[in-house]
Amino acid sequence: MTADRRSEIYLKGIPASPGIAMGPIFLYRDHTHEPELRIIPVSKLDDEISRFQRAIRASRDYLKKIHRETDQKYGNDFAEIVQIQISILDDEIFLKEVEKLIREHRYNAAYATFKVFQEKKEHFLKLSDDYMRERAFDIQTLKRLILKKLSGKKLDINYKKKSIIVTDNINPADIIRLHHKDILGFCTNVGGKNSHTAIVARSLGVPAVVGTEYITTAAKSGDYLILNGNDGVVIINPTPETIKEYSEKQRKFLILENGLLQDAMKPARTRDGKNITVMANLEFIEELEQFRNSGAEGIGLYRTEGLFFSGGTLPGEEFQTQTYIKFAENAAPYEVIIRTLDVGGDKILPDLADLPESNPFLGWRAIRFCLDHKEVFVPQLKAILQANLHGNIKLLLPMISALEEVRQFKEILKEAITLLKNEHKEFNADLEIGIMVEIPSAAIMIDSFLDEVDFISIGTNDLIQYTLAVDRANEKVSYLYNHYHPSLLNLIKKVIDAAKSKMKPVGMCGEMAGDPVAVPLLIGMGLENFSATPSRIPEIKN
Ligand code: PEP
Ligand code: MG
Repeated sequence: MTADRRSEIYLKGIPASPGIAMGPIFLYRDHTHEPELRIIPVSKLDDEISRFQRAIRASRDYLKKIHRETDQKYGNDFAEIVQIQISILDDEIFLKEVEKLIREHRYNAAYATFKVFQEKKEHFLKLSDDYMRERAFDIQTLKRLILKKLSGKKLDINYKKKSIIVTDNINPADIIRLHHKDILGFCTNVGGKNSHTAIVARSLGVPAVVGTEYITTAAKSGDYLILNGNDGVVIINPTPETIKEYSEKQRKFLILENGLLQDAMKPARTRDGKNITVMANLEFIEELEQFRNSGAEGIGLYRTEGLFFSGGTLPGEEFQTQTYIKFAENAAPYEVIIRTLDVGGDKILPDLADLPESNPFLGWRAIRFCLDHKEVFVPQLKAILQANLHGNIKLLLPMISALEEVRQFKEILKEAITLLKNEHKEFNADLEIGIMVEIPSAAIMIDSFLDEVDFISIGTNDLIQYTLAVDRANEKVSYLYNHYHPSLLNLIKKVIDAAKSKMKPVGMCGEMAGDPVAVPLLIGMGLENFSATPSRIPEIKN
């Protein structure tokens, strides 16, 4: 008997991370916009002030809980950062200013909070003292927290275990916040195959479909969902017959994956005897286990953004050092290529979320942000130098578009070394410096860059978007996002040839390096070093 399938709703999105997930939906919304200004009647002013004070108390309690958890999980150094936020919240003068705006101007609490915290943040950002400037990030975090509480939202994400997250758009920071919990999959309205959200989902090995456009309208919390990350099909409230059909597909998929895993430890060699190095792209400490079982020969790209996003606040130098040491030790006897912070674009650091740019992908991103924010950059460089105890770390700079950026970076690296010497800290400055070639100007002028750096890593995710003028995160133009476009293949070939003629190592760490169809083409073009998401490595080596 055929079951009636009319009750099911089919949607087609973009397959972003392989695998099949089945389970209840968790509908996730988390926005903090500039609040609306409302004038409070005089008779209600006391109530409004009490509401504000309650929000402060709740925020303080929440931070104390985070402080305890952070202390247990990551240690005192990291927890200390949360403590600073608690101290700011304890500052009476600060809070009195908000209360004054409520009482004297009769502003609603949310608007008064936004105004005071925004002004303070901007004031702190202009200070010359590095330590004080960093406090702007704390004020930003507190503002978001209080506004969330005032709008009646819970501060914790009320995620139920073993669900599929359904959302309009989720930024990688939120995926990381949720990632310690048991997530079955992700499904979003917006986003492209190579948006950072999709990449994070692949790194975590969680099936995902992005760019469905309507999923949040068509589904509600608690509905049952089948999500096929292999072909982008999403089925809301499937019939028992459909569930059975997909359970079978899921079983076959797992068998295929296991078969590939068994061969993954063998070396990758072409039939004509060329050795190919396949390394892993990682972002989180939790991925190290998957990395060790993937057959990867080292870490070809460690995206440090995960470290900056996971705590909800900036990680300290010591915490970074310890984390980088863990990556270096796990990579040994191979190497780990640590990429310096690549924020901006669709990777918005929570503490900077209120600085909107009209073209974030063309804006204050990655190396541009770091060169301007030495208080963030220098501790990261110091941590990398200190973690390089075994000499198997290489340093990679993202979003390089001009030689001047490399030269400025080298000056800052010297400053970091001087500081370490003055502080009598142990470090190893013998490390190779490479750049991501992910902006057309760097690919076109590759010869000049090769004279300045030790190695090259081709980042196709951004190189495609900048070469073809196609936003990597926009589902409406995703049909144009194509790594076989002749203009792109031309640039890639040019970069490989130039690096080889100057005897400099060249690899690829964009998602193209994890596409089993593209890999033979790239090998034919002379590429011998690939770095891909761990889940793709067994198939590529095969
Ligand atoms: C790239 O752009 O290809 C890349 C690897 O960097 P990300 O995806 O982190 O921007
Ligand atoms: Mg990039």
